[in-house]
Amino acid sequence: MTYETILFDMDGVLLTGYHTDREVYRQAAAATLADFGIDYEGEPPPGLVDPDDISEVRTTCDDLSLPATSAWAYRERAATTIENERIAAGDRVPFDDTAVLADLADDHPLAIVSNNRQGTVRFTAEYFDWPLNAVRGRYPTLTEFGKRKPDAHLLRWMLDRLDAGEALFVGDRRTDIAAADRAGIDSALLARDGNVPDGESEPTHHIESLDALPNLV
Ligand SMILES: [Mg+2]
Repeated sequence: MTYETILFDMDGVLLTGYHTDREVYRQAAAATLADFGIDYEGEPPPGLVDPDDISEVRTTCDDLSLPATSAWAYRERAATTIENERIAAGDRVPFDDTAVLADLADDHPLAIVSNNRQGTVRFTAEYFDWPLNAVRGRYPTLTEFGKRKPDAHLLRWMLDRLDAGEALFVGDRRTDIAAADRAGIDSALLARDGNVPDGESEPTHHIESLDALPNLV
């Protein structure tokens, strides 16, 4: 099988760290409450720090008399600012095997499709000068928060954008594999330490390093 286009998840695949640290979201939620003039005691509520879904955000905002749409956008942008500063400070760095991107880019359009925020995905790709044709994270809206992988929305957007032919999505979670299934493309599950994550969605390929990709594509 040869693939024309290669799509990558970002967190845990190109960039060290499984996801954005909870402390980033705690600070972003606290900043949101402060700047919307909300008095509260103790820690910011989980519904603004690490909600499971849109309805938890809405319920939390209703309880605080916060406008959910604008408060969420503010929280997302605050988190992006904080995390981008952390990345620039060296808290999160590319994996060594991202060096293979330069070789792959000679023959394939490359792109990121990440559940992370668009402002952080774009910043990271530019900061580390990765040879990518496009990047797509979640926009700072509640709707997009609800369409994270395993929803196929982000992948479909990118496949359209690149007018991609045969595409391969490389991810480190079973939700990445499920999203690829739903989008109708092949997938590679990256398990750097050899510990394959549990889950039902079966990838097309198992790999333990990005260095395996030139032989796959
Ligand atoms: Mg990941």
